[in-house]
Amino acid sequence: MRYGKFRIVTQITVFFLMFVIPLLNIYELYFITGTYYALNVGALGVADPVVILQAMFASGQLTLPLLSAAVFPILVAFIMGRVWCGWLCPYMFIADRAESLRRFIRRKVFKLDNTFINRNAQNSFKANFVRFSFLITGTAFGGILGIPILNYISAPGILSTEAMIFVKERSFSIEILFLLGILGLQLTLLPRFWCRMFCPTGTVLSLIRSPYTLGVESTNKNSASPCCRENSCSDVCPMGLQPYRESRDMLCVNCGQCIDACKHNRLRFHGMGSA
Ligand code: SF4
Ligand code: SF4
Repeated sequence: MRYGKFRIVTQITVFFLMFVIPLLNIYELYFITGTYYALNVGALGVADPVVILQAMFASGQLTLPLLSAAVFPILVAFIMGRVWCGWLCPYMFIADRAESLRRFIRRKVFKLDNTFINRNAQNSFKANFVRFSFLITGTAFGGILGIPILNYISAPGILSTEAMIFVKERSFSIEILFLLGILGLQLTLLPRFWCRMFCPTGTVLSLIRSPYTLGVESTNKNSASPCCRENSCSDVCPMGLQPYRESRDMLCVNCGQCIDACKHNRLRFHGMGSA
């Protein structure tokens, strides 16, 4: 089964939902309200786990509304892994397009090969170390200062808030500059750096897992080298992993691109929620 077309349809749907929600609210339809920081769908409250974490540290207590808003995302991540990142996050959708553009420019303008982060910066340990340190530092400072610092740099939260402002006021806030900045860096010097090394939401989601959580399984018996010369799974991985040997790494977002890219059917989804 190829996942690419299902993924893109899902990503586009969630992307446009950011605009549809405020539009519905303008017409006084309130079945669904909020942004991707925190949404209310009917009676169901769903919040970014980082928002909950920070509220918890800042107030020093875990209230029932906070706890109930965490249940759904935790459950989904526990069963399906980081599907929010790989299939739903609007920033990942834009980052995918930016990466395609970066590759196109490298190929057509600079006549360079398709070198990706795997070839020049592969180090999942380093990426995990940086992002967990960043999360811990941000949460600690937020708790001490009583300010949800990490909310101000949440790419999906900012994007959906900007979409809401655009729909309601036909303008953007200053925070759009932050998004443009990280996208610009991704396009030029640091491909995919935000999701790999900094995003607090992705970092928290990668902690919610068990050995049975959905993930990619490789049938490659020799983990020291790729199963084939093309190593196409590593070329497409947005997280800079080498899926033939690192597919269970906490960086994996279950996007399925490595499975689609492998011509030898050595990779597949495995665990809860797999077909
Ligand atoms: S790591 Fe963050 S920005 Fe990237 S896809 Fe996940 S939630 Fe979105
Ligand atoms: S290992 Fe495969 S499923 Fe995981 S992020 Fe990389 S390409 Fe996506």
